[in-house]
Amino acid sequence: MSEPIVRGWCPGALRPMASGDGLVVRVRPRFARLTAAQVLGLCALADRYGDGGLELTNRANLQIYGVAEADHAALIEGLAGLGLLDADAAVEGRRNVLISPFWQEDDLTVRLVAALYDALLDLPKLPPKVGFAVDTGEAPMLARDPADFRFERSDAGLILRADGAAKGRVVSEAQAIPALIELAQLFNDTRTPEQRRVRDWVAELPDDWQRATPLPSSPRIQPGEQGAFAAPFGRIEVADLVSLLTHSDAQAIRVTPWRMLLVEGNCPDAHPGLVTDPADPLLTTSACRGAPACPQGTVETRQLARALAPHVPDLHVSGCAKGCARVTSAAVTIVGRDGLYDVVQQGCAWDAPSLSGLTAADLSAHFKGRT
Ligand code: SF4
Repeated sequence: MSEPIVRGWCPGALRPMASGDGLVVRVRPRFARLTAAQVLGLCALADRYGDGGLELTNRANLQIYGVAEADHAALIEGLAGLGLLDADAAVEGRRNVLISPFWQEDDLTVRLVAALYDALLDLPKLPPKVGFAVDTGEAPMLARDPADFRFERSDAGLILRADGAAKGRVVSEAQAIPALIELAQLFNDTRTPEQRRVRDWVAELPDDWQRATPLPSSPRIQPGEQGAFAAPFGRIEVADLVSLLTHSDAQAIRVTPWRMLLVEGNCPDAHPGLVTDPADPLLTTSACRGAPACPQGTVETRQLARALAPHVPDLHVSGCAKGCARVTSAAVTIVGRDGLYDVVQQGCAWDAPSLSGLTAADLSAHFKGRT
């Protein structure tokens, strides 16, 4: 078996990544929000140039898969026309900013994100996957989501916290971006080449960056609450999203890092293709694209995951040992290897399996037979 390829960078729109079925084009909506017109325009582009779906990432971005190289320029032109493109690839590559999704117009969160967008090129050149979280709603919501530098609230006010540190430094709004640049520079100046993420380096963090404790995190919203619609495996078919918008009076959607969209405006309680029942077993099931879409996968994944989800709580089906869809342990992880499946109990896709060399029929008999 060949080892999974770890690319170490994220695709963008201007800098797409090659996949098994074409280019992966990542769209990074500013403030994690798209107007209804932008959503409909993006759906039309994904339908015309992609594989007919949009995939939500854990950085609250949207990806179009299956784009032919010959169509990339036309897709880029379409995205630019919708206002969904950065000025250049350098800005795009740095605009890894998670934003607490319930921001209000011109509140602290919006002001900080706007200031951060403006300062992206003032930051030192950081390792490719480094990102930021502006998590300054009433209580943090993004503490479990990927970011290296975090703005949060504490009892003492706004803080900047390095990922992995229990505490951060209190900063005023005016100090926020200069402090971020200072901390990012410190990280760059003192990290080793192997320390590509802040959590790997945080043991080196000086005490004066660790003074104030963030407020306790708020519980994550559930599908069906506050206009939240979950996308099984993070994928939304374009037709379902267009239908949702046309059957609601949504003015916009907000993208979360939790495989969920939030609809702004009145919307139905449920919609085909999307999950609003918090008890739906698909919500505890992860599955990557697998074969044939991903060149590293040798097995089908999502159909199997749908079939097994009602029988296996906390399931992850991975097309290979890279484990893209979930980097944390699952009760059961099914991993593709050379066209067959291995099973890892209480582990990750790269952990040692307890069962090996099974077919989909074997798995079905094994897991459905025990319920
Ligand atoms: S885990 Fe899935 S998506 Fe990731 S490389 Fe392997 S097959 Fe591809």
